[in-house]
Amino acid sequence: MITVDEALAAVLGRVRTLGTEATPLVKSVSRILRAPVVADRDLPPFNRAAMDGFAVRSVDVSVEGTRLKVAGEIRAGVWPDRALGSGEAMRIMTGAPVPEGADAVVQVERTTMTGVGEVLIGAVGSAGQNIVPRGSEAPRGSELLRPGLRLGPAHLAVLASVGVIEPVVSRRPRVAVIVTGDEVVDPGSRPGAAQIRNANGPALAAAIREAGGVSTDAGVVPDQSAKTRAAIERALSEGHDAIVLSGGVSAGDFDFVEKALGEIGVTLHVTAVRVKPGAPFVFATHGDTLIFGLPGNPVSAQVTFELFARPALLKMQGAVAFLRPKVAATLDSPLTNRSGRRNYLPVVATASEGSLRAAPVRTQGSGDTLAHAMANALAVLEPDQTSLAAGDRVLLYPLSSILEV
Ligand code: AMP
Ligand code: MG
Repeated sequence: MITVDEALAAVLGRVRTLGTEATPLVKSVSRILRAPVVADRDLPPFNRAAMDGFAVRSVDVSVEGTRLKVAGEIRAGVWPDRALGSGEAMRIMTGAPVPEGADAVVQVERTTMTGVGEVLIGAVGSAGQNIVPRGSEAPRGSELLRPGLRLGPAHLAVLASVGVIEPVVSRRPRVAVIVTGDEVVDPGSRPGAAQIRNANGPALAAAIREAGGVSTDAGVVPDQSAKTRAAIERALSEGHDAIVLSGGVSAGDFDFVEKALGEIGVTLHVTAVRVKPGAPFVFATHGDTLIFGLPGNPVSAQVTFELFARPALLKMQGAVAFLRPKVAATLDSPLTNRSGRRNYLPVVATASEGSLRAAPVRTQGSGDTLAHAMANALAVLEPDQTSLAAGDRVLLYPLSSILEV
């Protein structure tokens, strides 16, 4: 058995980067940017008033209580029709271009109109005050966003600001989901006494989507070698970038995934990992197609997807941040790990006064779908961390993105 890190390296080393496509701006959210975004103009494009007030020359208002002649008004969206002269002020609105000759904007609240075409400036002005200089956020031609970034709403604001209405992003990975198990029935049907509903299909489809992929549902395949093989062959022939199988990878009499993969002639790179949950994880490749054989236990399936398939799907799209950052927390109550493997245990992490605490979730193990759903992080216990006490520090693997860059 190899370690989690060795298995992850085996997976990541075989990831090929997908092609790109241009996508409408609003639809590009959460996609991976693949071309640099460059400023097509200075940001801001002109010396911008940051306040409603009066544009002035700072030398004219070096003492409080100066009276200046009001020489006009500049609204946002309108270029000033003339420069500001000595002894003059111009009414200016937030977002309007500061006129030539002015080097400060005095906030309107610090001024009083006198009624004779003059304004009383009740403040001392200093050069640059309340003005955002042209190009100070970013000069024209500079790189604003790097390829590999996962686009969020704030990035879309940047794209829009420089007129990129069709950003170049990675195409989405196409991923087939094949669920195996004689006992597994569709979630919409009534299970027989010994049957269970397919929990993995929907969870994996959702996880694929969250990782930027598009999943196709190959349905539930019975525990038969030929049928398992046919389902994998069909997924391969349909040109998927990855295939995710659930179940059938352990040592039971009816576990056929590894056998079927062997018959098809794919290359097996990983057949077991020193991890709990999820030891019988299988990873294979067929050409550029990545094949993940996940254990059927729902928690094992979700954790191994998270540890191995998610990074691979993100890396495939050219993402720079394809691994979640681990964070340290203080344990609320004891945890044990007698598995001899790296153990991922469900916890609820909460932030209080700037530090993280982790409360273990009571779990019946790798079939406990509910315990996993209650957790927002997994405590990572190494093989030698056989028992941790309340108050001990523990490393957490967060199950959602925090501080990803
Ligand atoms: P397997 O890896 O096929 O040996 O399955 C391990 C355990 O996970 C068994 O208890 C299965 O009944 C259960 N299981 C397998 N597939 C699913 C599934 N799609 N949804 C829920 N449980 C499953
Ligand atoms: Mg099974």
